[in-house]
Amino acid sequence: MTRPSARLDRDLLARLMAVELTRFAADHPRSAALHERAKGSLLEGVPMPWMVKWAGPFPPYVAVASGAHFSCVDGHDYVDFCLGDTGAMAGHGPAATIAAVERQMRRGITHMLPTEDAAWVGEELTRRFSLGAWQFALSASDANRWALRLARHIIGRSKVVVHDHCYHGSVDEAIAMLGPDGSVVPVRGSVGPQVDVAQTTRVVEFNDITGLAAALADRDVAAVLLEPALTNVGIVLPEAGYLEAVRELTRRSGTLLIIDETHTICAGPGGATGAWRLEPDVLVIGKTIGGGIPAAAYGFSPEIAERIAGSIAVDDSDVGGIGGTLAGYALSLAAVRATLGEVLTDEAFGRMTALAERWEVGVNEVVHASGVPWHVTRLGARAEYHFMADLPRTGAEQWAHSDPELERFLHLWAMNRRVLMTPFHNMALMSPATTESDVDRHTEVFAQAVEALFA
Ligand code: PMP
Repeated sequence: MTRPSARLDRDLLARLMAVELTRFAADHPRSAALHERAKGSLLEGVPMPWMVKWAGPFPPYVAVASGAHFSCVDGHDYVDFCLGDTGAMAGHGPAATIAAVERQMRRGITHMLPTEDAAWVGEELTRRFSLGAWQFALSASDANRWALRLARHIIGRSKVVVHDHCYHGSVDEAIAMLGPDGSVVPVRGSVGPQVDVAQTTRVVEFNDITGLAAALADRDVAAVLLEPALTNVGIVLPEAGYLEAVRELTRRSGTLLIIDETHTICAGPGGATGAWRLEPDVLVIGKTIGGGIPAAAYGFSPEIAERIAGSIAVDDSDVGGIGGTLAGYALSLAAVRATLGEVLTDEAFGRMTALAERWEVGVNEVVHASGVPWHVTRLGARAEYHFMADLPRTGAEQWAHSDPELERFLHLWAMNRRVLMTPFHNMALMSPATTESDVDRHTEVFAQAVEALFA
Protein backbone atom coordinates (compact mmCIF):
# COMPACT_ATOMS: atom_id res chain seq x y z
CA MET A 1 0.00 0.00 0.00
CA THR A 2 2.69 2.52 -0.86
CA ARG A 3 2.12 4.86 -3.76
CA PRO A 4 4.03 8.14 -3.55
CA SER A 5 1.18 10.21 -4.96
CA ALA A 6 -2.02 8.25 -4.74
CA ARG A 7 -4.71 9.38 -7.18
CA LEU A 8 -8.36 8.63 -6.70
CA ASP A 9 -9.90 6.48 -9.45
CA ARG A 10 -13.57 7.62 -9.58
CA ASP A 11 -14.71 4.51 -11.45
CA LEU A 12 -13.17 2.29 -8.82
CA LEU A 13 -14.80 4.44 -6.12
CA ALA A 14 -18.22 4.02 -7.77
CA ARG A 15 -17.76 0.23 -8.06
CA LEU A 16 -16.66 -0.07 -4.42
CA MET A 17 -19.57 2.14 -3.31
CA ALA A 18 -22.08 -0.12 -5.08
CA VAL A 19 -20.65 -3.15 -3.24
CA GLU A 20 -20.87 -1.33 0.11
CA LEU A 21 -24.48 -0.21 -0.49
CA THR A 22 -25.53 -3.79 -1.25
CA ARG A 23 -23.68 -5.04 1.82
CA PHE A 24 -25.30 -2.45 4.09
CA ALA A 25 -28.80 -3.27 2.83
CA ALA A 26 -28.21 -7.02 3.21
CA ASP A 27 -26.89 -6.58 6.76
CA HIS A 28 -29.74 -4.33 7.95
CA PRO A 29 -33.12 -5.79 6.93
CA ARG A 30 -34.85 -4.62 10.12
CA SER A 31 -33.59 -1.05 9.77
CA ALA A 32 -34.70 -1.15 6.12
CA ALA A 33 -38.19 -2.26 7.16
CA LEU A 34 -38.43 0.47 9.84
CA HIS A 35 -37.31 3.06 7.31
CA GLU A 36 -39.96 1.90 4.82
CA ARG A 37 -42.57 2.16 7.56
CA ALA A 38 -41.37 5.63 8.64
CA LYS A 39 -41.75 6.90 5.09
CA GLY A 40 -45.50 6.62 5.65
CA SER A 41 -45.54 9.12 8.51
CA LEU A 42 -42.29 11.13 8.54
CA LEU A 43 -41.10 13.69 6.03
CA GLU A 44 -38.63 11.80 3.82
CA GLY A 45 -38.84 8.91 6.31
CA VAL A 46 -36.62 10.56 8.96
CA PRO A 47 -37.34 12.52 12.19
CA MET A 48 -35.01 15.41 11.26
CA PRO A 49 -33.95 16.66 7.80
CA TRP A 50 -30.21 16.12 8.36
CA MET A 51 -30.74 12.40 8.95
CA VAL A 52 -30.95 11.92 5.19
CA LYS A 53 -27.20 12.55 5.22
CA TRP A 54 -26.27 9.13 6.60
CA ALA A 55 -24.14 7.34 4.06
CA GLY A 56 -26.25 4.21 3.57
CA PRO A 57 -29.57 3.96 1.70
CA PHE A 58 -31.20 4.43 5.13
CA PRO A 59 -29.84 4.99 8.66
CA PRO A 60 -29.21 2.07 11.01
CA TYR A 61 -31.94 2.14 13.69
CA VAL A 62 -30.55 2.05 17.23
CA ALA A 63 -31.72 -0.65 19.65
CA VAL A 64 -29.45 0.13 22.64
CA ALA A 65 -26.64 2.66 23.10
CA SER A 66 -24.27 2.27 26.04
CA GLY A 67 -20.87 3.83 26.71
CA ALA A 68 -19.05 4.29 23.41
CA HIS A 69 -21.03 1.62 21.56
CA PHE A 70 -24.53 1.06 20.26
CA SER A 71 -26.28 -1.91 18.79
CA CYS A 72 -28.71 -1.56 15.93
CA VAL A 73 -32.02 -3.35 15.55
CA ASP A 74 -30.27 -5.87 13.29
CA GLY A 75 -28.05 -6.90 16.21
CA HIS A 76 -24.74 -5.37 15.09
CA ASP A 77 -22.47 -3.74 17.65
CA TYR A 78 -20.97 -0.42 16.49
CA VAL A 79 -18.09 1.65 17.89
CA ASP A 80 -19.57 5.16 18.06
CA PHE A 81 -17.18 8.02 17.21
CA CYS A 82 -19.99 10.39 16.30
CA LEU A 83 -21.41 10.26 19.88
CA GLY A 84 -24.49 12.18 18.94
CA ASP A 85 -22.47 14.98 17.27
CA THR A 86 -21.20 15.92 20.76
CA GLY A 87 -24.61 15.52 22.46
CA ALA A 88 -23.38 12.19 23.87
CA MET A 89 -19.73 13.14 24.35
CA ALA A 90 -20.12 11.97 27.98
CA GLY A 91 -20.77 8.48 26.57
CA HIS A 92 -24.21 6.92 26.17
CA GLY A 93 -26.10 6.70 29.43
CA PRO A 94 -23.37 7.58 31.93
CA ALA A 95 -24.34 5.91 35.23
CA ALA A 96 -24.07 9.10 37.30
CA THR A 97 -26.32 11.06 34.92
CA ILE A 98 -28.90 8.29 34.79
CA ALA A 99 -28.96 8.05 38.60
CA ALA A 100 -29.37 11.82 38.98
CA VAL A 101 -32.10 11.96 36.35
CA GLU A 102 -34.00 9.05 37.91
CA ARG A 103 -33.77 10.73 41.31
CA GLN A 104 -34.98 14.06 39.94
CA MET A 105 -37.87 12.46 38.04
CA ARG A 106 -39.31 11.34 41.36
CA ARG A 107 -38.75 14.78 42.95
CA GLY A 108 -40.41 16.85 40.23
CA ILE A 109 -39.35 17.23 36.63
CA THR A 110 -40.25 20.86 36.06
CA HIS A 111 -41.89 23.48 38.26
CA MET A 112 -40.88 27.01 37.23
CA LEU A 113 -38.82 27.29 40.41
CA PRO A 114 -35.09 26.81 40.89
CA THR A 115 -33.49 23.84 42.62
CA GLU A 116 -30.15 23.73 44.42
CA ASP A 117 -28.62 22.22 41.28
CA ALA A 118 -28.95 25.59 39.51
CA ALA A 119 -26.47 27.24 41.90
CA TRP A 120 -24.11 24.23 41.81
CA VAL A 121 -24.07 24.24 38.02
CA GLY A 122 -23.49 28.00 37.91
CA GLU A 123 -20.52 27.62 40.26
CA GLU A 124 -19.04 24.75 38.25
CA LEU A 125 -19.41 26.64 34.96
CA THR A 126 -17.71 29.63 36.59
CA ARG A 127 -14.82 27.39 37.71
CA ARG A 128 -14.38 26.00 34.22
CA PHE A 129 -14.82 29.11 32.08
CA SER A 130 -13.94 32.00 34.44
CA LEU A 131 -17.23 33.77 33.63
CA GLY A 132 -20.30 34.13 35.82
CA ALA A 133 -23.95 35.25 35.67
CA TRP A 134 -25.14 32.06 33.96
CA GLN A 135 -28.48 31.49 32.29
CA PHE A 136 -29.86 28.30 30.81
CA ALA A 137 -31.49 27.10 27.63
CA LEU A 138 -32.31 23.69 26.19
CA SER A 139 -30.23 23.95 23.03
CA ALA A 140 -27.10 25.75 21.94
CA SER A 141 -29.16 27.37 19.18
CA ASP A 142 -31.41 29.02 21.75
CA ALA A 143 -28.47 29.99 23.96
CA ASN A 144 -26.79 31.67 20.96
CA ARG A 145 -30.02 33.42 19.96
CA TRP A 146 -30.54 34.80 23.47
CA ALA A 147 -26.90 35.81 23.86
CA LEU A 148 -27.20 37.77 20.60
CA ARG A 149 -30.42 39.43 21.73
CA LEU A 150 -28.81 40.53 25.00
CA ALA A 151 -25.74 41.76 23.13
CA ARG A 152 -27.87 43.95 20.84
CA HIS A 153 -29.91 45.09 23.84
CA ILE A 154 -26.97 46.42 25.85
CA ILE A 155 -24.66 47.52 23.04
CA GLY A 156 -27.43 49.22 21.09
CA ARG A 157 -26.17 48.13 17.68
CA SER A 158 -27.90 45.84 15.22
CA LYS A 159 -25.24 43.86 13.34
CA VAL A 160 -23.54 40.54 14.10
CA VAL A 161 -20.23 39.19 12.75
CA VAL A 162 -19.74 35.48 12.09
CA HIS A 163 -17.08 33.50 10.25
CA ASP A 164 -17.44 32.07 6.78
CA HIS A 165 -18.51 28.37 6.97
CA CYS A 166 -19.41 28.65 10.65
CA TYR A 167 -22.32 26.82 12.23
CA HIS A 168 -23.99 27.99 15.42
CA GLY A 169 -27.27 26.10 15.14
CA SER A 170 -30.56 27.39 13.75
CA VAL A 171 -29.65 31.03 14.44
CA ASP A 172 -30.90 33.25 11.60
CA GLU A 173 -28.05 35.74 11.76
CA ALA A 174 -25.49 32.94 11.48
CA ILE A 175 -26.98 31.18 8.41
CA ALA A 176 -24.74 33.43 6.31
CA MET A 177 -21.59 33.04 4.28
CA LEU A 178 -19.39 34.91 1.83
CA GLY A 179 -20.51 34.86 -1.80
CA PRO A 180 -18.00 34.61 -4.67
CA ASP A 181 -17.76 38.43 -4.83
CA GLY A 182 -17.23 38.78 -1.06
CA SER A 183 -20.80 39.87 -0.33
CA VAL A 184 -22.88 38.28 2.44
CA VAL A 185 -25.26 35.63 1.13
CA PRO A 186 -27.44 32.94 2.75
CA VAL A 187 -25.66 29.64 3.39
CA ARG A 188 -26.17 27.12 0.57
CA GLY A 189 -29.40 25.32 1.39
CA SER A 190 -30.69 28.05 3.77
CA VAL A 191 -34.41 27.38 4.17
CA GLY A 192 -36.83 30.33 4.07
CA PRO A 193 -34.74 33.12 5.65
CA GLN A 194 -36.87 35.73 7.44
CA VAL A 195 -34.83 38.65 6.14
CA ASP A 196 -31.87 39.04 3.82
CA VAL A 197 -28.89 38.01 5.99
CA ALA A 198 -26.85 40.84 4.47
CA GLN A 199 -29.02 43.17 6.59
CA THR A 200 -28.21 41.46 9.87
CA THR A 201 -24.76 39.99 9.40
CA ARG A 202 -21.18 40.63 8.29
CA VAL A 203 -19.15 37.55 7.42
CA VAL A 204 -15.36 37.35 7.64
CA GLU A 205 -12.90 34.60 6.77
CA PHE A 206 -11.45 32.69 9.71
CA ASN A 207 -7.88 33.82 10.48
CA ASP A 208 -8.38 37.09 8.54
CA ILE A 209 -7.45 39.90 10.93
CA THR A 210 -7.70 42.61 8.28
CA GLY A 211 -11.16 41.40 7.24
CA LEU A 212 -12.38 41.45 10.83
CA ALA A 213 -10.97 44.95 11.41
CA ALA A 214 -12.87 46.18 8.34
CA ALA A 215 -16.11 44.49 9.48
CA LEU A 216 -15.90 46.26 12.85
CA ALA A 217 -14.69 49.63 11.56
CA ASP A 218 -18.14 51.25 11.33
CA ARG A 219 -18.89 50.43 14.98
CA ASP A 220 -22.32 49.11 14.12
CA VAL A 221 -21.65 45.52 15.20
CA ALA A 222 -23.10 44.39 18.55
CA ALA A 223 -21.22 41.10 18.75
CA VAL A 224 -18.80 38.72 17.09
CA LEU A 225 -20.12 35.18 17.52
CA LEU A 226 -17.31 32.70 17.08
CA GLU A 227 -16.13 29.15 17.53
CA PRO A 228 -12.48 29.48 18.64
CA ALA A 229 -11.68 26.76 16.10
CA LEU A 230 -14.17 26.04 13.33
CA THR A 231 -15.52 22.51 13.78
CA ASN A 232 -18.54 22.39 11.54
CA VAL A 233 -16.81 22.50 8.17
CA GLY A 234 -14.30 20.10 9.67
CA ILE A 235 -11.61 21.46 11.97
CA VAL A 236 -9.95 24.78 11.11
CA LEU A 237 -7.55 25.83 13.86
CA PRO A 238 -6.78 29.46 14.68
CA GLU A 239 -3.35 30.65 13.62
CA ALA A 240 -1.02 32.03 16.27
CA GLY A 241 -2.25 35.50 17.22
CA TYR A 242 -5.67 35.33 15.55
CA LEU A 243 -7.79 34.96 18.68
CA GLU A 244 -5.74 37.63 20.46
CA ALA A 245 -6.41 39.95 17.51
CA VAL A 246 -10.13 39.17 17.65
CA ARG A 247 -10.16 40.11 21.33
CA GLU A 248 -8.20 43.28 20.75
CA LEU A 249 -10.34 44.41 17.79
CA THR A 250 -13.64 43.67 19.53
CA ARG A 251 -12.53 45.56 22.67
CA ARG A 252 -11.32 48.52 20.66
CA SER A 253 -14.59 48.80 18.72
CA GLY A 254 -16.90 48.26 21.72
CA THR A 255 -18.16 44.97 20.28
CA LEU A 256 -18.98 41.95 22.44
CA LEU A 257 -17.07 38.73 21.90
CA ILE A 258 -19.36 35.69 22.22
CA ILE A 259 -17.51 32.39 22.19
CA ASP A 260 -19.55 29.32 21.31
CA GLU A 261 -17.86 26.33 23.01
CA THR A 262 -20.55 23.82 22.09
CA HIS A 263 -18.08 21.70 20.07
CA THR A 264 -14.72 23.16 21.16
CA ILE A 265 -15.38 21.89 24.69
CA CYS A 266 -13.39 18.93 23.32
CA ALA A 267 -10.26 21.09 23.87
CA GLY A 268 -10.45 20.52 27.63
CA PRO A 269 -12.67 20.79 30.71
CA GLY A 270 -12.96 24.55 30.14
CA GLY A 271 -13.09 24.26 26.35
CA ALA A 272 -10.75 26.33 24.20
CA THR A 273 -11.47 29.29 26.51
CA GLY A 274 -9.85 27.44 29.41
CA ALA A 275 -7.11 25.77 27.37
CA TRP A 276 -6.02 28.93 25.51
CA ARG A 277 -6.89 31.47 28.24
CA LEU A 278 -9.39 33.35 26.11
CA GLU A 279 -11.39 36.24 27.54
CA PRO A 280 -14.88 36.25 26.05
CA ASP A 281 -17.58 38.67 27.18
CA VAL A 282 -20.16 35.93 26.76
CA LEU A 283 -19.71 32.15 26.53
CA VAL A 284 -22.22 29.67 25.16
CA ILE A 285 -22.20 25.92 25.62
CA GLY A 286 -24.83 23.37 24.66
CA LYS A 287 -25.26 19.67 23.93
CA THR A 288 -22.56 17.91 25.99
CA ILE A 289 -23.25 19.28 29.42
CA GLY A 290 -26.53 17.43 30.00
CA GLY A 291 -25.10 14.01 29.12
CA GLY A 292 -27.87 13.69 26.52
CA ILE A 293 -30.66 15.45 28.45
CA PRO A 294 -31.43 18.79 26.72
CA ALA A 295 -29.33 21.55 28.31
CA ALA A 296 -27.34 24.62 27.33
CA ALA A 297 -25.89 27.59 29.20
CA TYR A 298 -24.65 31.09 28.49
CA GLY A 299 -22.69 33.22 30.92
CA PHE A 300 -21.30 36.75 31.11
CA SER A 301 -18.23 38.61 32.27
CA PRO A 302 -18.83 40.68 35.42
CA GLU A 303 -18.84 43.93 33.45
CA ILE A 304 -21.44 42.70 30.96
CA ALA A 305 -23.52 41.09 33.72
CA GLU A 306 -23.62 44.47 35.45
CA ARG A 307 -24.79 46.19 32.27
CA ILE A 308 -27.56 43.64 31.80
CA ALA A 309 -28.70 43.63 35.42
CA GLY A 310 -31.59 46.00 35.88
CA SER A 311 -31.81 46.79 32.15
CA ILE A 312 -35.00 44.76 31.74
CA ALA A 313 -38.05 45.80 33.75
CA VAL A 314 -39.36 43.03 36.00
CA ASP A 315 -42.81 43.30 34.42
CA ASP A 316 -41.31 42.76 30.95
CA SER A 317 -38.92 39.94 31.84
CA ASP A 318 -41.13 37.21 30.38
CA VAL A 319 -42.02 38.77 27.04
CA GLY A 320 -38.83 40.30 25.65
CA GLY A 321 -37.72 37.46 23.39
CA ILE A 322 -35.75 35.39 25.87
CA GLY A 323 -37.94 32.57 27.06
CA GLY A 324 -38.19 28.83 27.23
CA THR A 325 -40.67 27.42 29.73
CA LEU A 326 -38.46 24.40 30.30
CA ALA A 327 -35.08 26.18 29.99
CA GLY A 328 -33.05 25.47 33.11
CA TYR A 329 -35.73 23.09 34.39
CA ALA A 330 -35.01 20.79 37.29
CA LEU A 331 -34.36 17.61 35.29
CA SER A 332 -31.98 19.37 32.92
CA LEU A 333 -29.90 20.88 35.73
CA ALA A 334 -29.80 17.60 37.67
CA ALA A 335 -28.36 16.00 34.52
CA VAL A 336 -25.79 18.81 34.05
CA ARG A 337 -24.67 18.59 37.68
CA ALA A 338 -24.05 14.85 37.46
CA THR A 339 -22.45 15.02 34.00
CA LEU A 340 -20.02 17.84 34.83
CA GLY A 341 -19.41 16.71 38.39
CA GLU A 342 -18.91 12.99 37.82
CA VAL A 343 -18.51 12.18 34.13
CA LEU A 344 -16.83 14.91 32.07
CA THR A 345 -14.29 15.54 34.81
CA ASP A 346 -10.81 17.00 34.38
CA GLU A 347 -9.44 13.46 34.69
CA ALA A 348 -11.80 12.13 32.00
CA PHE A 349 -10.61 14.85 29.59
CA GLY A 350 -7.04 13.63 30.09
CA ARG A 351 -8.02 10.11 29.01
CA MET A 352 -10.17 11.30 26.12
CA THR A 353 -7.38 13.51 24.78
CA ALA A 354 -4.88 10.62 24.97
CA LEU A 355 -7.29 8.47 22.94
CA ALA A 356 -7.68 11.18 20.30
CA GLU A 357 -3.86 11.39 20.12
CA ARG A 358 -3.75 7.63 19.52
CA TRP A 359 -6.40 8.02 16.77
CA GLU A 360 -4.36 10.86 15.24
CA VAL A 361 -1.12 8.82 15.25
CA GLY A 362 -2.81 5.72 13.79
CA VAL A 363 -4.59 7.58 10.97
CA ASN A 364 -1.46 9.63 10.24
CA GLU A 365 0.57 6.45 9.80
CA VAL A 366 -1.95 5.15 7.26
CA VAL A 367 -2.01 8.50 5.42
CA HIS A 368 1.77 8.72 5.22
CA ALA A 369 2.28 5.08 4.25
CA SER A 370 -0.25 5.31 1.44
CA GLY A 371 0.97 8.62 0.02
CA VAL A 372 -2.54 10.13 -0.13
CA PRO A 373 -2.34 13.94 0.07
CA TRP A 374 -4.49 14.14 3.20
CA HIS A 375 -3.84 15.51 6.66
CA VAL A 376 -5.00 14.74 10.19
CA THR A 377 -6.03 17.47 12.69
CA ARG A 378 -6.86 17.19 16.34
CA LEU A 379 -8.49 19.47 18.87
CA GLY A 380 -8.26 17.84 22.30
CA ALA A 381 -10.61 14.86 22.29
CA ARG A 382 -11.74 15.34 18.67
CA ALA A 383 -9.76 14.43 15.56
CA GLU A 384 -10.37 14.23 11.84
CA TYR A 385 -8.69 13.56 8.51
CA HIS A 386 -9.30 15.73 5.48
CA PHE A 387 -8.55 15.60 1.77
CA MET A 388 -5.76 18.17 1.53
CA ALA A 389 -2.09 17.86 2.37
CA ASP A 390 -1.78 20.92 4.64
CA LEU A 391 -3.90 22.41 7.38
CA PRO A 392 -6.55 24.83 6.05
CA ARG A 393 -6.42 28.50 7.03
CA THR A 394 -10.07 29.26 6.33
CA GLY A 395 -13.44 27.55 6.19
CA ALA A 396 -13.59 28.16 2.43
CA GLU A 397 -10.27 26.38 1.91
CA GLN A 398 -11.44 23.41 3.95
CA TRP A 399 -14.74 23.37 2.06
CA ALA A 400 -12.99 23.50 -1.33
CA HIS A 401 -11.23 20.24 -0.45
CA SER A 402 -14.30 18.37 0.69
CA ASP A 403 -15.32 15.43 -1.48
CA PRO A 404 -18.87 14.30 -0.69
CA GLU A 405 -18.62 11.17 -2.87
CA LEU A 406 -15.41 10.00 -1.20
CA GLU A 407 -16.67 10.97 2.25
CA ARG A 408 -19.87 9.00 1.77
CA PHE A 409 -17.90 5.97 0.71
CA LEU A 410 -15.52 6.12 3.68
CA HIS A 411 -18.41 6.54 6.12
CA LEU A 412 -20.32 3.63 4.63
CA TRP A 413 -17.20 1.46 4.52
CA ALA A 414 -16.72 2.20 8.23
CA MET A 415 -20.39 1.55 9.07
CA ASN A 416 -20.26 -1.79 7.28
CA ARG A 417 -17.36 -2.66 9.56
CA ARG A 418 -19.28 -1.36 12.58
CA VAL A 419 -17.60 1.99 13.12
CA LEU A 420 -19.73 5.17 13.12
CA MET A 421 -18.24 8.51 12.05
CA THR A 422 -20.10 11.84 11.76
CA PRO A 423 -22.23 12.01 8.62
CA PHE A 424 -20.91 15.51 7.90
CA HIS A 425 -17.13 15.18 7.65
CA ASN A 426 -14.36 12.79 8.68
CA MET A 427 -14.40 13.43 12.37
CA ALA A 428 -14.15 11.22 15.45
CA LEU A 429 -15.01 12.20 19.00
CA MET A 430 -13.77 10.39 22.11
CA SER A 431 -15.87 9.87 25.23
CA PRO A 432 -14.80 8.76 28.72
CA ALA A 433 -16.07 5.29 27.77
CA THR A 434 -14.06 4.99 24.52
CA THR A 435 -11.20 2.46 24.67
CA GLU A 436 -7.88 2.02 22.90
CA SER A 437 -9.26 -1.00 21.10
CA ASP A 438 -12.17 1.13 19.80
CA VAL A 439 -9.59 3.56 18.41
CA ASP A 440 -7.49 0.77 16.90
CA ARG A 441 -10.59 -0.71 15.26
CA HIS A 442 -11.11 2.58 13.43
CA THR A 443 -7.47 2.72 12.34
CA GLU A 444 -7.70 -0.82 10.99
CA VAL A 445 -10.93 -0.14 9.08
CA PHE A 446 -9.57 3.14 7.72
CA ALA A 447 -6.38 1.41 6.56
CA GLN A 448 -8.45 -1.21 4.72
CA ALA A 449 -10.50 1.51 2.98
CA VAL A 450 -7.38 3.37 1.85
CA GLU A 451 -5.89 0.07 0.65
CA ALA A 452 -9.07 -0.70 -1.34
CA LEU A 453 -9.03 2.74 -2.95
CA PHE A 454 -5.33 3.27 -3.61
CA ALA A 455 -3.42 -0.03 -3.54
N1 PMP B 1 -23.08 25.79 18.12
C1 PMP B 1 -22.23 24.93 17.55
C2 PMP B 1 -20.78 25.27 17.50
C3 PMP B 1 -22.70 23.73 17.01
O1 PMP B 1 -21.83 22.90 16.45
C4 PMP B 1 -24.07 23.44 17.08
C5 PMP B 1 -24.65 22.16 16.51
N2 PMP B 1 -23.85 21.37 15.78
C6 PMP B 1 -24.90 24.37 17.69
C7 PMP B 1 -24.39 25.54 18.20
C8 PMP B 1 -26.38 24.12 17.79
O2 PMP B 1 -26.67 23.11 18.68
P1 PMP B 1 -28.18 22.61 18.81
O3 PMP B 1 -28.51 22.00 17.45
O4 PMP B 1 -28.14 21.59 19.87
O5 PMP B 1 -29.02 23.77 19.09
